[in-house]
Amino acid sequence: MTESSETNDKPLILIVDDSRYLRLKLRQVLEGDGYTVAEAEDGQQALSIFKRFQPDLVLMDCVMPVMNGLSACAQMQAFPGGNRTPVIMITGLSDDNAVDDAFNAGATDYITKPIHWAVLRNRVRRLMRARQTEASLDKVEALARSIISRAHDGIITVDTYGVVKSFNPACERIFGYAPGDVIGQNINVLLPDFHDKDGFIVSQLIGEDEVCGVSSEVVGRRNDGSAVPIEFTFSDFCVHRQCFVTLILRDITERKRYEETIWHQAFHDNLTGLANRMLFKDRLALAMAHAKRNNNGLAVLFLDLDRFKLINDTLGHDIGDQLLNQVGIRLRNCVREDDTVARMGGDEFTLLLPEIMKAEHAARIAQKVVEAVRQPLKIGEHELYISTSIGIVLFPDDGQDAETLLKNADTAMYRAKENGRNHYELYASSMNAKASERLSLENSMRRALERREFVVHYQPKINVKSGGITGMEALVRWQHPKLGLVLPGEFIPLAEESGLIVPIGEWVLKTACAQNKAWQDSGFPSIRVAVNLSARQFQLQNLVEVVSRVLKTTGLDPTCLELEITESIAMQNAEHTVSVLNQLNEMGIQLSIDDFGTGYSSLSYLRRFPINKLKIDRSFVAEIGTDSHNGAIASAVIVLGRSLNMGVIAEGVEREEQLNFLKDHDCFEMQGFLFGKPMPVEDFTHFLMAQKQPCNNN
Ligand code: C2E
Ligand code: MG
Ligand code: MG
Repeated sequence: MTESSETNDKPLILIVDDSRYLRLKLRQVLEGDGYTVAEAEDGQQALSIFKRFQPDLVLMDCVMPVMNGLSACAQMQAFPGGNRTPVIMITGLSDDNAVDDAFNAGATDYITKPIHWAVLRNRVRRLMRARQTEASLDKVEALARSIISRAHDGIITVDTYGVVKSFNPACERIFGYAPGDVIGQNINVLLPDFHDKDGFIVSQLIGEDEVCGVSSEVVGRRNDGSAVPIEFTFSDFCVHRQCFVTLILRDITERKRYEETIWHQAFHDNLTGLANRMLFKDRLALAMAHAKRNNNGLAVLFLDLDRFKLINDTLGHDIGDQLLNQVGIRLRNCVREDDTVARMGGDEFTLLLPEIMKAEHAARIAQKVVEAVRQPLKIGEHELYISTSIGIVLFPDDGQDAETLLKNADTAMYRAKENGRNHYELYASSMNAKASERLSLENSMRRALERREFVVHYQPKINVKSGGITGMEALVRWQHPKLGLVLPGEFIPLAEESGLIVPIGEWVLKTACAQNKAWQDSGFPSIRVAVNLSARQFQLQNLVEVVSRVLKTTGLDPTCLELEITESIAMQNAEHTVSVLNQLNEMGIQLSIDDFGTGYSSLSYLRRFPINKLKIDRSFVAEIGTDSHNGAIASAVIVLGRSLNMGVIAEGVEREEQLNFLKDHDCFEMQGFLFGKPMPVEDFTHFLMAQKQPCNNN
C-alpha cells in the first residue's frame, strides 16, 4: 500500500487475500472503477492497515495463513467505528455454514470464487454508496450535536404530547435542571403557560407555518420555583411518521430589565425620579376618563418655585439640582401613594389628585404643599428658604382636556405669583364667587399675621356707680390693605375653621397683655384686660402653658388678665373645661362667660366652673325698652349671676334707658357704645387719661 492513499480523496478499498494474483486482479478492476486500493496478504496485516487507514470497504478472503478472514473480520468490528465499514467476504466455500459464519463474524456481504467481476463491481458500488450516505449523515449529526451542545440559546425537543425529548446545556443554565430531570417530563414543568387548557398546544403547533419561527414570550419556571421571562421560537419536523417540535428559547431577564430602565427613563425625570410631562399627561388622560365614567372630579395643582433662578444663579446648578430633588421628596410626602407628582421641567411641578370634587379640598392640599415647601432646606453648608406659587384647576369645571386644564392651572399659578407668591390660587371659574372670596380671604389672612395687618382695639368696661373704668376688652381687627378695617365677625369664623385662629389668638393675647403692662408702666392705674378665647384655642392641649408663657414674657400680673369664653365653648367638653378653668383660676386669672344667654348652659356645670362673671349678651340688652320681652332675660341673668355668686356685666349698652334699667336691676358694670367704642391704642390712651378716678373694685 502506498502512503499517497492517505491524502487521496477517492474511496479506499482494502483487499485482503493470500493470492498475489487475485490481489492484482482485484486492484486492476477496482482502480479501473476509480477507487484507491490497499492490499494485505493475511488477516493480521489487514488489521493493522484497517486500524491505520480506516478504509471505506474491505474485500477479504476467508481462508488465509496467519489469521483467517473470519477472525480478522470479527476483530475489525471491535475497532471504533469498525462495525460501520462494510466487509465483503470472498470464499470458495458456499455451503450454508460458511455463509452463516461469515455473517456472524460481521460481514456485510458475501461473494464466491470464481469471482463474477460484474457482480463484484456492482456490489462494491452499492455498498460504497450506502457507506457514503452513512458518512454524510454522521457528519450532519455531529454538526447538529455540536451546535446544540454549544448553542447559547436553549433548545428543547418535545413530541406531540409535549414530552421533552432533548434538553441542551443552555437549557440547563436557564432552568437549573439537569437533562435527566426533565427528559421524559412534560414541557409544562418548564413552561407552565405554554399549554392551552387542554394541553394540546404542542400538537396544534405542528404544520402551523404562519406561527413557526415567529418569536413569542412566555414565563418559564426554574428548578428553584422562580420565574424567568423567556422568548422562544419553534419549528416542527417529522421522522418516520412521528412529529416533533423544537423550541429555541432564550432567557430575556436582562432585556426585560433594560426595557424597564428605558421605560423608566422615558417617563420619569432623571433628576428627581418623579413622573415627567409625558407620563403626567398620560395619567391625567386616564384619570379624566375614569372621573367621567364615575361622575367624579379631579384636581391638578401646578407649582412653580418662587425665585428659584436666584438660587441657581448665585449658588450654582449643583445646589439648585439638590434643592429640586428635596422639593420633589417633600411634594411626594404631601400626597397619597396613588396621586401623581411630576416635574414638568425647570422648577415646575404638577400634582394630579384624583377623586377631588371640591375646590376646598384641593386648596387644603395646596396649602399643605405651600407649608411643606417653605420649611428651611439644608443643602450642604447652606440653609435655604424657598417658597412656591400654586395654581389649582378642577376637572371637569376648568377644562375638558389635559391641555386646557394645564393651561388654566398655569394661569392661576401666575396669578398666585402676581399676588405675592408663596400661596395658591384657584382658577376662577371653578368656584362660585362666594367660595372664591372665602378662599382668597383665608389665603390673605394667612399672610396677614406676617405682614402685621392685625390690630387690637380696646373697649372700656365701666362701673356706673362710680363712673370709673374697671377694665377693657381687647378686640381684634384686621387692617386689610384693600378692604380696609375688617371686623372680627367677618374673619374669625373662617380663622376658626382653618385653624388660623390659634396663631392669631395667641398674638392677640400677647399684644393685649403687653399693652396693658405698657399702660401700667407708663403710670396708669392697673386695670384688667379681657381677651376672647375661641373654641379651637380652648381645646388646645397647651392652653394653660401658652397663657402662662405670655404672662411671663410680658410681665403682666395674672390678676390683670381676664379670659372670655362663650357658653357653647364651656359646655362642649365640660370635664375639660372644669380642669382648664381651675388651672387658670389658680394662676389668678379672671374668667367670664361671654354672650351669656345665647347658648345652652347646664346650670349644674355652671356652678362647678370657677367663673367670676357672666356677660349679658347685647341682644338681651337691646331688648330693653322695646315691646318684646322688655329686658326680661337681662334681669333674669342678673338674678342668676347673683345667686351663683358671680359678677354680672352687660354689654352692648347704647342708650340711657338701658343704663337705667340695668342699674335698677342691680347691674352696675357695663360695656357699650354709650361709654366708649372699641378704640385703637392712642385713642384708648386718651380715654384713660380723661378718667378721673379708675375703679378697680371687682
Ligand atoms: P364679643 O366678645 O361679644 O365682643 C363684643 C362685641 O360687641 C364687639 O364686636 C364690640 O365691638 C361689640 N359692641 C360693644 N359694645 C357695643 C354696643 O354698644 N353696640 C353694639 N352694636 N356692639 C357693641 P366686635 O369687635 O365686632 O367683635 C365681635 C366678636 O368677635 C366678639 O364678640 C368676639 O366674640 C369676637 N372677637 C373679637 N376679638 C376676638 C379675639 O381676639 N379672639 C377671639 N377668639 N374672638 C374675638
Ligand atoms: Mg368678648
Ligand atoms: Mg359678647
